[in-house]
Amino acid sequence: MKIETQCLHEGYHPKNTEPRVVPIVQSTTYVYDSTDDVAAVFDDPSKSLIYSRFENPTVMAVEEKIAALEGGIAAMCTSSGQAASFLSIFNLCSAGDSFLSTSTIYGGTVNLFAVTMKKMGIECIFVDAEASEEELRKAFRPNTKAVFTETLANPALAVLDIEKFAKLAHENGVPLIIDNTFPTPVLCRPIEYGADIVIHSTTKYMDGHAVQVGGVIVDSGRFDWTNGKFPDFTEPDESYHGLIYTEQYGKMAYIMKARMQLMRDFGCYPAANSAFLLNLGLETLPVRMKQYCENAMTVARFLEQSDKVESVNYPGLSGNPYYERAKKYLPDGCSGVISFVVKGGRSAAVRFMDSLNLASNVVHVADIRTCVLHPASATHRQLTDEQLVAAGIEGGMIRLSVGLEHIDDILEDVKQALEQI
Ligand SMILES: *Cc1c(COP(=O)(O)O)cnc(C)c1O
Repeated sequence: MKIETQCLHEGYHPKNTEPRVVPIVQSTTYVYDSTDDVAAVFDDPSKSLIYSRFENPTVMAVEEKIAALEGGIAAMCTSSGQAASFLSIFNLCSAGDSFLSTSTIYGGTVNLFAVTMKKMGIECIFVDAEASEEELRKAFRPNTKAVFTETLANPALAVLDIEKFAKLAHENGVPLIIDNTFPTPVLCRPIEYGADIVIHSTTKYMDGHAVQVGGVIVDSGRFDWTNGKFPDFTEPDESYHGLIYTEQYGKMAYIMKARMQLMRDFGCYPAANSAFLLNLGLETLPVRMKQYCENAMTVARFLEQSDKVESVNYPGLSGNPYYERAKKYLPDGCSGVISFVVKGGRSAAVRFMDSLNLASNVVHVADIRTCVLHPASATHRQLTDEQLVAAGIEGGMIRLSVGLEHIDDILEDVKQALEQI
């Protein structure tokens, strides 16, 4: 099936007289006929449902759909994108381990990796995504367990050379984890280029309507966890009466461990109602992505012509350093997010933003409504000047998330706000 069809039909297949739309199963728990039935499900939780802290039919329908969209074997939803980032790494790393991450990633992820996970004894080694293979090879250590990166970095809009990173990760016997939030599987499916795990903040385009916060982890099912680097997958799990994930679940070892061990213990599972809302967004995702890309391209070209604008960063523009790479990895468009730098630095950026009428000033991105953000004073506020430079952020930089209003209205608003600078 093509992705438009998958978005509508994957994950839920009603039988005779069942509801056409995926039902909201608002129940914490599930009934069993006997004590033996309960015991059996505790022996192998994949057989049936136990408790909505880690599994729920509404959420699972959405998980199945997203796994299909990304070309993965299975998926697990989380209550936020942050939870997905955290669990994707914590499923592989314990105290004393390290992992690599490109430095041009979402500010919240930088905090999580550089500050919070450090307190857990897990070290994140930040690398420059554009460094040579030789340099990147040097960053790996014997205790390195994963490589983490973003397809289209938020907000630097750097397009990743996915194949280069997949190759380096695999040479070192570790999986490549990609945050594919901005492109969504409509514009890029990283597994096709060698990624092993794909994560998302579903809060962004996937939902698209700004009605739920959520995340998801998708397992490609392709990584070999028995290569000697991942004893937690190949040795008995004490917390599951000696179960061995690779033996019990084979290709599904990663995602089953994430659910049975980590989701059981952390409980950051979305509510059924949130998954229902996310599903509504997913149904129209391909139509929306197409229009976001078209509107953003028009706005980017307009900004490029303005004498109030110093530079425009949108990988779809022919002068962009990532233009060629975007043609390979994002052939159908580069999403609706543009970043640009106005002349006059931070104060001019603030004046522009406060002059907008239609576009809202929100700490959000990838919404159906056009919105703007000043990264240096919001999402990336906690970063040091050096980290800001590493993340590709300047004081006069504005992140414009182009929505689905009529393009004439969006251009009119941007134009009048530029005149106020
Ligand atoms: C927003 C975002 C996150 C964090 O997701 P939340 O749903 O806000 O927790 C992670 N990665 C990227 C690329 C994001 O844009």
